[in-house]
Amino acid sequence: MKTTKKQIVVRAYTPIAKPLNASIQKNSTMLLLGEIPYVNGDKVFNTKVYYIKGLRGMLRHAAMKLAYDCGIEVCHTSEKTELKDGTKLMPVGFHVLGSCDPPCMLQRIFGSFHKESRISVSADPITSISHKDYETNVAVQKVHIASETRIALSFDGVPIQDFRQSYFSGYFTFSIDVTQLTDEEIKFLIESLLYIETLGGGKNAGYGQVKLLDFDLQNVDIEKKLERNDGIYKFSEKTKAESIALDNIEDWRETVVSLHTRRASNA
Ligand SMILES: [Zn+2]
Repeated sequence: MKTTKKQIVVRAYTPIAKPLNASIQKNSTMLLLGEIPYVNGDKVFNTKVYYIKGLRGMLRHAAMKLAYDCGIEVCHTSEKTELKDGTKLMPVGFHVLGSCDPPCMLQRIFGSFHKESRISVSADPITSISHKDYETNVAVQKVHIASETRIALSFDGVPIQDFRQSYFSGYFTFSIDVTQLTDEEIKFLIESLLYIETLGGGKNAGYGQVKLLDFDLQNVDIEKKLERNDGIYKFSEKTKAESIALDNIEDWRETVVSLHTRRASNA
């Protein structure tokens, strides 16, 4: 069985990020996926692997900022337009999620409650391995993972509660499957990477700063086969990634912005 997909692979760095989503009493931790074995020398060790939550939301938020900046009206994340007392919730430049027909750039890429997203965002789980050399047959990303105890203070500086939060630090990679997108939509998504700033919680306290290093747009050929080996059937999978280029990615913004300005001035 042969398939082909198109993906954007992004390399990033964070000094400290808290993609937290599991709370146990006063402690929040990252989503634990389980333990995997790895080999160092002739010894086997176990390490816990965690999920990086919030990558998709991070991307969607960045895409909204880009659209706003370029004067392209897109879906907001909210379905409500106003509160009971009449307070308007929908900022200028946005419309109610899923209300656009034909669908706007954001709904075409990210979907809405009623419409499926046409991209998927994924990353190999992260893990902390203290050994310099290690071998494992599970795809993981080695980062630093730890937890810190923080103390909430009352106005007069008296500690009222302490709580533990886990965080990770280091280089990580995530992929966006863009097989279903048009070239124009891919260019929009790539341009929106420039607007990525934070991942996870605590941004007001300086956590979650994300710095993107580079990206690669790839065609990936995947070939799956059944093989019989020593009387046992096995699944084998081969993947081959090839870097591709899109015309004028760097000029996308100028083209789009001038088009919108022209439209606005003609109206
Ligand atoms: Zn929309």
